Amino acid sequence: MERLRVQGITEPSVLAAINEVPRHIFVDEAMAQRAYEDTSLPIGFNQTLSQPFIVALMTQILLEVKPRVVLEVGTGSGYQTAVLSKFCDQLYSVERISDLVKKARQRLRTLSIDNATIYHSDGFEGLERHAPYDGILVTAAPKEIPQVLLDQLADGGRIVAPVGLDLNQDLKIIDKSENGLVERNVEKVRFVPLVSGKT
Ligand code: SAH
Repeated sequence: MERLRVQGITEPSVLAAINEVPRHIFVDEAMAQRAYEDTSLPIGFNQTLSQPFIVALMTQILLEVKPRVVLEVGTGSGYQTAVLSKFCDQLYSVERISDLVKKARQRLRTLSIDNATIYHSDGFEGLERHAPYDGILVTAAPKEIPQVLLDQLADGGRIVAPVGLDLNQDLKIIDKSENGLVERNVEKVRFVPLVSGKT
């Protein structure tokens, strides 16, 4: 916790949420003993659970716009979903790999999280059904932000997403207002790529 604070996670409610959500249930048993290290961990299918600092940072940035309805692209293990669910009324999360969808749903059920819904679908399509979203958090990196996500963002809304190719990704903040989009870079990051299609 102290390390997260030193790294710039200043929002007490985010620190509390990271503290509350048991990270070990989001990784396979073989990895469970490493679950509390500040590092990314494998979750199968060549995918990774982000390090707690990145989860905390992205959550903290998104919260600044006080989003009520949120879309997450890339459920993965469901860990970020669980943390984020504490801060919004409704959270919708899309994941392209069906096996990860099933496991993540189970974990959220175990934690009695009932305001988060996971869909097996391709994030390149966004999720029209519940749009517009006050916040969109993307946890896999596209080369550029898909237009459909910008379209599904509400006025006053914010996207937090890694953007770019493998070794050169920027964590970006994109704010939408009546005057258009304002984009900022936060820092260099490394996420798995956003891949199109379901499996
Ligand atoms: N936030 C996750 C980490 C996700 S890793 C966690 O806390 O565990 C990125 C995830 O995005 C992977 O599970 C990957 O399958 C998923 N993904 C990649 N491309 C996608 C797409 N087009 N639509 C939906 N999910 C996608």
